Amino acid sequence: MAESAEPVLEVTGLVKHYPLTRGIVFRKRTGAVRAVDGVSFSLARGETLGIVGESGCGKSTVAKLLVGLERPTAGRIRYRGEDITRLSGRALKAVRRNIQMVFQDPYTSLDPRMTVGDIVGEPYEIHPEAAPRGDRRRRVRELLDVVGLSPEHINRYPHQFSGGQRQRIGIARGLALRPEVIVADEPVSALDVSVQAQVVNLLERLQSEFGLSYVFIAHDLSVVRHISDRVGVMYLGRLAETGTDTEIYDHPTHPYTQALLSAVPVPDPGARERRERIILAGEVPSPAAPPSGCRFRTRCWKARERCAVEEPVLAVPVALATRGPAAHPSACHFAEERRTVPAMGSER
Ligand code: ADP
Ligand code: MG
Repeated sequence: MAESAEPVLEVTGLVKHYPLTRGIVFRKRTGAVRAVDGVSFSLARGETLGIVGESGCGKSTVAKLLVGLERPTAGRIRYRGEDITRLSGRALKAVRRNIQMVFQDPYTSLDPRMTVGDIVGEPYEIHPEAAPRGDRRRRVRELLDVVGLSPEHINRYPHQFSGGQRQRIGIARGLALRPEVIVADEPVSALDVSVQAQVVNLLERLQSEFGLSYVFIAHDLSVVRHISDRVGVMYLGRLAETGTDTEIYDHPTHPYTQALLSAVPVPDPGARERRERIILAGEVPSPAAPPSGCRFRTRCWKARERCAVEEPVLAVPVALATRGPAAHPSACHFAEERRTVPAMGSER
């Protein structure tokens, strides 16, 4: 799907640290939560980049940084080649129009006291220049139609809709300003499995209709595969591995990706038997004190001395450079080693 050379978004070394403080009168800084700790990627026009990882690894923080709801501690975000990281005021507002967010939970992200018409039309209050006042109702009706809702329901309230319909309302709001980029933060995670596919299909249809680019965030690897052109796997504030869907799902080289994939349910019982399930040792460390060197090492069955002292960079491993789909960026010192799976449930 991706075609043009210049990326719509380019993120370099993105960092977001939240200060940890003690005391109320004299707030003493005691450290920082490294929610995002050096993330780089680019998004081509018309492309979908999936970002996956367990809860707490920094996905929502990346989303908030991209749409300007949070300011990065360090790093740079470029939109169509322009550095937007330190824009403010009117210039920032103008750029934000083009990068919109769809939130995770349609039950809490829609104000229950507002009508659907007011919710979907709210972006026009923030950006009055986007649509003349007299034209807004008509536009909102059209947006409802575009996302598969009845324009007649414009005066209803969120509680009168199902979960899937509410997420359609959220998507209609995200489209109101005709953005180029949609950052969807776990847009189907709160929905019934039966409804998830419908919302994903809607997003795909809208993408081809309007030429949108997506950053699609999920903790569920199987949801992301279907919609993504490329996938980035996050662990403790950093990307562990990036690649096309084939590269990531069929040729993962980072032990964390391999472990995540081994936990994805397989419908065919035969395949389930044959597959090795990787059970990671221990818990995800605190993002306030990530391990030295490779931050995955405390849970990795391949880890050895080097992993504790040298942080692996996200790059194509030299030893894999000619190995077809295995040649994609992986932040592991031993990515080329054959995956030797530990015995089930074993501690390292
Ligand atoms: P995810 O979306 O992958 O679950 P988040 O980006 O929400 O992860 O959070 C990443 C880490 O940053 C978590 O440890 C979370 O507790 C922490 N965090 C997120 N927002 C804040 C905040 N405003 N202040 C302090 N810590 C935060
Ligand atoms: Mg989140």
